[in-house]
Amino acid sequence: MGERLYEGKAKIVYRGDEPGVYLMEFKDDATAFNGQKKGSITDKGVVNARLTARLLRLLEERGIPTQFLATAGERMLKVRELAMVPVEVVVRNVAAGSLCQRLGVEKGREFSPPLVELYLKDDSLGDPLVNRHHLRALGKSDDATLDRMEELAGRINEVLRPFFRERGLELVDFKLEFGRTPDGEIVLGDEITPDTCRLWDAATRESLDKDRFRQDLGGVEEAYAEVARRVMDGG
Ligand code: 5GP
Repeated sequence: MGERLYEGKAKIVYRGDEPGVYLMEFKDDATAFNGQKKGSITDKGVVNARLTARLLRLLEERGIPTQFLATAGERMLKVRELAMVPVEVVVRNVAAGSLCQRLGVEKGREFSPPLVELYLKDDSLGDPLVNRHHLRALGKSDDATLDRMEELAGRINEVLRPFFRERGLELVDFKLEFGRTPDGEIVLGDEITPDTCRLWDAATRESLDKDRFRQDLGGVEEAYAEVARRVMDGG
């Protein structure tokens, strides 16, 4: 394994053995509320690596470019080298979380078409909600990149929402991050896991995601394992 390039709250990125290849390791560490709440979720790293591999492979099969190359051990993925765009794209099918607090929207309201939001990725500022004008003015991104990221985010939702629904899970909302390959192509990076998605049991509307950790609901490990079971077994 090569040099450690980056350590975040949930993952570590290493330089790989070949040019253009990184290794992404998934940790059991869990944080919430911009790092104010800290803990650990047993085997989260293993579950999240497995889920990300499965879901990025699914997206690739549907023609969506991602960083995924291969699995590399139980909590590690081999991925393409990317220069990350410092923007989080959030897609909301159903109102929950910060949106309800910010705008007084009732939890559970459906959005059709889905609501897409942009956040500046900056821990020291708590990842604030921004619009294109902010990102342009601050030199963080440009219209062509944002157009492409929003287009891909919409297509990703169209693949993932029915995929989860067939497995009895409602994809309420999720956060995506994109990066640029050395060739300049914008591709999906980061992870797709219960850390970055809200997933509700379709029948009971019970949270099967990081909200169980954020809100001290208990059964966190069981919820992650249940999502993995439904995604990997297809039922
Ligand atoms: P909210 O804005 O309601 O807190 O989050 C919306 C969705 O994006 C949720 O599924 C949440 O998990 C995800 N999300 C937003 N920001 C972040 C972040 O900084 N880290 C992670 N892991 N997920 C995020």
